[in-house]
Amino acid sequence: MSTDPARPAGEPSPPERFARGSVTDSYPTVPDPAVLAAAPAQERRTGDGAVRRAAERRLAAVVEGMSEAFLSLDAGWRVTYANRAACALNGTTRAALVGRDHWALWPETAGGEIERQYRRVVADGVPARFEHYYPGVGAWHAIQVYPAEGGGLAVFYRDVTAEKAAAAERERLLAESERARADAEAARSDAEAANRSKAQFLATMSHELRTPLNAIGGYAELIAMGIRGPVSEEQRHDLARIQASQRHLLGLINEVLHYAKLETGTVHYTFSDVEVRDALAAAETLVAPQARAKGIALRLGACRPAAAVRADAEKLRQILVNLLSNAVKFTDRGGRIDLSCDVSHSAARGGRVAVVVRDTGIGIPAGQLEAVFEPFVQVRDDLTRAAEGTGLGLAISRDLARGMGGELTVESTLGAGSAFTLTLPAGGAGSAPDA
Ligand code: ADP
Repeated sequence: MSTDPARPAGEPSPPERFARGSVTDSYPTVPDPAVLAAAPAQERRTGDGAVRRAAERRLAAVVEGMSEAFLSLDAGWRVTYANRAACALNGTTRAALVGRDHWALWPETAGGEIERQYRRVVADGVPARFEHYYPGVGAWHAIQVYPAEGGGLAVFYRDVTAEKAAAAERERLLAESERARADAEAARSDAEAANRSKAQFLATMSHELRTPLNAIGGYAELIAMGIRGPVSEEQRHDLARIQASQRHLLGLINEVLHYAKLETGTVHYTFSDVEVRDALAAAETLVAPQARAKGIALRLGACRPAAAVRADAEKLRQILVNLLSNAVKFTDRGGRIDLSCDVSHSAARGGRVAVVVRDTGIGIPAGQLEAVFEPFVQVRDDLTRAAEGTGLGLAISRDLARGMGGELTVESTLGAGSAFTLTLPAGGAGSAPDA
């Protein structure tokens, strides 16, 4: 910006005057836009160049105070002005820049993108904005070029190396997290596929195993009935053991099949309002003979008569029988099992009903409390007992509980007993305010 039609011929521009030392470095004020705008008109009216010079001084102060580097070039590519930031950016003094040829000062920019852009702005009179990398100093600059009257240029530079590095880092992190997300998604879907085929395999196997097992049971029964001829007392005894083992195996296989169905998502629920008291009584009746045989006291606590859960009655019974059978299995002779329901807090818990099966049995080590809900996990310090089951009962029960919008949890003290809590959404009556 070396010329200005509004400026009297021969009078230097503020940067030029700055370069000559007629403008000092110490302009503290920001220019008043109104003064700047009014200056030419006022000057014309009053012929007073002082107003304009004051405005120019303020403009120079702004240019000096800018954090962006600013250069003005004349039509012959000579530097007519460089602000403080431009000197700092080049690590030199104003005297070393002003009056010198741009291409001599920065020979590496000649013939490249910078020259092409500068010449285009001069030729078209249209400002340009671009980013340029200076390999010598390893820096990126955002450069804005404006045409100045008389063929010169006003150029603003801003070092954007740190910004670009931050943006690149942001992009890298984004790409990394996107990759990690995609990897996790792929791993999840692989795991799901593997789980599905495992469950499918279990379902097929279980089905295939049931057929011969049923045949074993059927033939053993035929023989035991004497249909194939007389059976001795010893043979009858052996047949009874064959039949018991057959029933045990069939039970295990049914559990595996059931679990496989849960895994493949082929279990269907038929929901209704189930009265908790009835469900507990039915389950208790089923397990009572085993408890009695072991001399274990099985007590059914009182439940509010109308308390109900929203559940599949058959699956609720299955969970309760599993919890009660475990309690009997893992409680020694003379122990106690309490079956209770906790509806008194149902309203406060957002309409949920808790059923608790508490025993005075062997308990579960603290480190295994969650593991017992994993499929095929049995607490291994009692192999005789472990051999009695599959380790699937609790996995199935928790899946069923969750399938009905509920949860199954355990608290236990090793050697003192366990309490399994089944929580289910309250049914119509159960969700009513407590009486
Ligand atoms: P299973 O009873 O067929 O072994 P479960 O999944 O029902 O399988 O139980 C898993 C394991 O959790 C059991 O083998 C046992 O170690 C432990 N367990 C379950 N219920 C109780 C209980 N009431 N007291 C102590 N341990 C229990």
